[in-house]
Amino acid sequence: MRTEGLSINLATVRQQWNLVEAVEACARHGITCIDPWRDQVAAVGLDTAVKVIKDNGMRVSGLCRGGMFPAADAAGRQAAIADNKRAVDEAAALGAECLVLVVGGLPQGSRDIGAARHMVLDGMAALLPHARASKMPLAIEPLHPMYAGDRACVNTLKQALDMAGQLGGDVGVAIDAYHVWWDPELETQIARAGAEKRILGYHICDWLVPTRDLLLDRGMPGDGVIDLPRISGWIEKAGYKGHTEIEIFSAQDWWTRPGDEVLKTCIERYNDTFAA
Ligand code: ZN
Repeated sequence: MRTEGLSINLATVRQQWNLVEAVEACARHGITCIDPWRDQVAAVGLDTAVKVIKDNGMRVSGLCRGGMFPAADAAGRQAAIADNKRAVDEAAALGAECLVLVVGGLPQGSRDIGAARHMVLDGMAALLPHARASKMPLAIEPLHPMYAGDRACVNTLKQALDMAGQLGGDVGVAIDAYHVWWDPELETQIARAGAEKRILGYHICDWLVPTRDLLLDRGMPGDGVIDLPRISGWIEKAGYKGHTEIEIFSAQDWWTRPGDEVLKTCIERYNDTFAA
């Protein structure tokens, strides 16, 4: 079974293992790339995380996540920018290839999604000099519109690319098939993202029908309705050479199974997805 090109987003095994255990488990399964979450790094300490990643020769396809820029007042927006600067520093310490941004939804009490989108743009513009100084690319991850209220008011790849274009270089996109598979413009926008050299990450899992929970019911690749081989083909055609990252939040299923079974299944499904 091939593991080359596969990255495991450590959210996939967050209920089974802490970061150290997860990295060691990935190494045991021949997986050579991971994407940790900041809370997982914080739980073991940044120095420990850096050491176990280095000791196991892991690449880090990204750090999840920065973002969450909109806030009800200026102090809140400043606090978000300060937190994002710390996220950039952590990503740099870990040797991450990008900082993944879930940009944030509406501030509490607001119904003005246009204003929220401006806050995202302003927040990213304020963060960029620090990110550039740290040589840390910022990856905007458009999220499915069902999260526009609370997690991300950037919801299509086109919107993310337009935003990246306004911000300039060192800003790209993380394309998560779970969030964008439904978009009739997806093929065109993936080609555009490739032409603009902005694809910084590619995440996969599957859309289950029915979906029982808006956040925590993502499927293992192959178990849902997303045509992952087709989308992966578009990504490849767009010239993306980075890792394919499996990222699954699954409170009722995969988070309840032994971690080794989850990783073994990820490797099998990764091979199925790219066998075509
Ligand atoms: Zn993702």
